[in-house]
Amino acid sequence: MRAIVAHAAHDLRIEEAPALPLEPRDICVQVAYGGICGSDLHYFNDGGFGLVRLREPMILGHEVAGTVTALGSDVARVKVGDRVAVNPSVPCNRCRYCLEGRQNHCLDMRFYGSAMRFPHVQGAFREALVCNEQQAHTVADHLSLAEAAMAEPLAVCLHAVRRAGSVMGKRVLVTGCGPIGALSVVAARRAGASEVIVTDIADATLPYALRVGADRALNVGRDPDALANYAVDKGYFDVALEASGAEAAVRTAIDVVRPGGVIVQLGLGGDMKLPINAISAKELQLRGTFRFHEEYPLALEFMAKGLIDVKPLISATVPFAQAREAFELASDRSRSMKVQLSF
Ligand code: ZN
Repeated sequence: MRAIVAHAAHDLRIEEAPALPLEPRDICVQVAYGGICGSDLHYFNDGGFGLVRLREPMILGHEVAGTVTALGSDVARVKVGDRVAVNPSVPCNRCRYCLEGRQNHCLDMRFYGSAMRFPHVQGAFREALVCNEQQAHTVADHLSLAEAAMAEPLAVCLHAVRRAGSVMGKRVLVTGCGPIGALSVVAARRAGASEVIVTDIADATLPYALRVGADRALNVGRDPDALANYAVDKGYFDVALEASGAEAAVRTAIDVVRPGGVIVQLGLGGDMKLPINAISAKELQLRGTFRFHEEYPLALEFMAKGLIDVKPLISATVPFAQAREAFELASDRSRSMKVQLSF
């Protein structure tokens, strides 16, 4: 069984990895597709992000779907041959937050392909993945496994929109138009936003947002004042979904969100200097959002029912043997949106 292992920045190797034993509630999944996420790219390009650093070789990847090939002795939920999406989130289900139903805040979380804890939690970019049956969600017959592998980033965005409160009939600004920004457009539309405007500093990303339902897509790199008209009379938008992690984008959101509005911070950008007085004077609500829990099966359900279409956002599918090329392609925002590996 081969896997894609990050040893350090720009040191990505395809290596043999031991097949894990099947515990009674485990299943083995033959991985079909794996989406490359921003965090995978941080490990690939920088060896980590912030204080989270690679300290040992780690298999990357957490956006996968595939076919069940073997079952542990006590498995009841799935059978061999089932097509499944694998939830990469493995909360302990025992800590205080898990017991409150807030598993994304689990005190003992094991999230695939994450160097947040040591030993690192090995990821899912491998030919055969052993996971607990609870992580496997059956994929509707007419939904491709490539689409199913988008359930994870879509769940992140559904959770972010839920954090915003009701967006029915609201005007929504999305700043940053990578896969998470584009999927935030999709999620805001699904939740009833009346108008969605998206910004980025790269031209190539913007047509994707228009294809999945944005009303306008603006390049604020070329034209930093593109949103100036929306700041008139204390602001235009009810909600901002900030998916860039850039200080300039947060400042813009503070300018163009109307009094009492909500800014949901999806992008992880590290320390920032923000005009706190403006947040106070406009009674803005700056809200965090982190991963997801119940939104994972919801993402699959929306796709299965045809209520959300993520296909336009899959910009390339690359055989996993060419992982390095795939990661370089995914790192180049002028050439890609979501890049998936095929296994
Ligand atoms: Zn827990």
